[in-house]
Amino acid sequence: MLKKIIVMLPGDGIGPEVIRAAAGILRECAHEFGHHFDLPEYPLGGAAIDAKGVPLPAETLEACQKANAVLLGAVGGPRWDAQPVGNRPESGLLALRQELGLYVNVRPVRLHQPLRAISPLKHDRLGGLDIEIVRELAGGMYFGERGSQQISGGERAFDTESYSTPEVERIAAFAYARAENRSRRLTSVDKANVLISSQLWRRTVTSMSQLYPSVRLEHLYVDNAAMQLVLRPEQFDVILTSNMFGDILSDEAAALVGSIGLLPSASFGTGTPLFEPIHGSAPQLAGKEAANPIGAILSVAMMLRDTFGLGIEADWIERSLERVLAAGYRTPDIAEPAGRVVGTSHFAEILRQEMQLTLEHAGRYGWGV
Ligand code: NAD
Repeated sequence: MLKKIIVMLPGDGIGPEVIRAAAGILRECAHEFGHHFDLPEYPLGGAAIDAKGVPLPAETLEACQKANAVLLGAVGGPRWDAQPVGNRPESGLLALRQELGLYVNVRPVRLHQPLRAISPLKHDRLGGLDIEIVRELAGGMYFGERGSQQISGGERAFDTESYSTPEVERIAAFAYARAENRSRRLTSVDKANVLISSQLWRRTVTSMSQLYPSVRLEHLYVDNAAMQLVLRPEQFDVILTSNMFGDILSDEAAALVGSIGLLPSASFGTGTPLFEPIHGSAPQLAGKEAANPIGAILSVAMMLRDTFGLGIEADWIERSLERVLAAGYRTPDIAEPAGRVVGTSHFAEILRQEMQLTLEHAGRYGWGV
């Protein structure tokens, strides 16, 4: 029996809907396995600007710092577009990641077999796609020096990409360790033919390879990596890359498996780990029961397995989810002609029922059915 505090940050747009679905699954786990999960909710992003005037209120940050884990929906939307850069919903999320010392973002991209047909890639190209993108989260252009100034003829604006040796070393060590526990292939993605920061990145990652002799290291330029992802995604196992390149490549990889709504992520560092689907707040879908909650639900599975050591509970969620997909249930973004299209909360309810059935089978025949 585990007792944990998991802070819920629903955020904006579809965030509250996917978090409601994922929280229901967490409660189901707590109920069936006798855990006690306290799930307090706090505002972040646009919701926090509306309620408190700032995107990351002090109470939200303090609650996250004291929690065992954080589950986040998504932030942002046109409603807050007029806010200055430092007070936009997204700056609340960046500040939260920074305050929690999160520098690793792991994004597993796995093909769900029942969704094979909705991939835009041809069957033979797709193979058994199973990639883990390790994205640096605390540095690079999203945190570099920036500014804008009036010049004759208009305005000049700049953002700076910068990395230090220790910043690259700590994210690379994480990626090497992940690769050691998978198929021992690590692809580091950079733009070392143009950027000095990428040259430091490449030198540092290369120099660490002697510490991980079982891992085969390869380097790719980001433009080639983007192309290789659609040409031959199966060549990749663990991809290590910078904050911005990771952001872009993971959306591309999400499209290969069918929808951005399917992908979970976990962020680790020196403070409380944070789990979130990789998608944004999709404002145009908000309130329409059209959001795919799978990314948020799989983020919960990552939390249970990676942070709380609850592998059986995580397997329970993932296997039940595969069965729901195999039975043809689909949210609109992954709809197929023969599928049964259901809304966000209905999908979560079907999953909960399937989890019950799986549990009954497991009780009768043992795990693995
Ligand atoms: P988005 O991820 O919100 O949407 C991109 C596309 O994917 C849209 O067509 C959307 O309808 C679809 N989509 C996204 N999530 C989905 C889901 N769960 N189910 C079904 N379809 C889904 O990205 P965007 O449109 O570039 O950004 C919208 C807002 O979200 C912006 O304000 C942006 O800054 C913010 N954003 C936030 C985060 C975050 O909170 N981590 C990440 C990315 C973007």
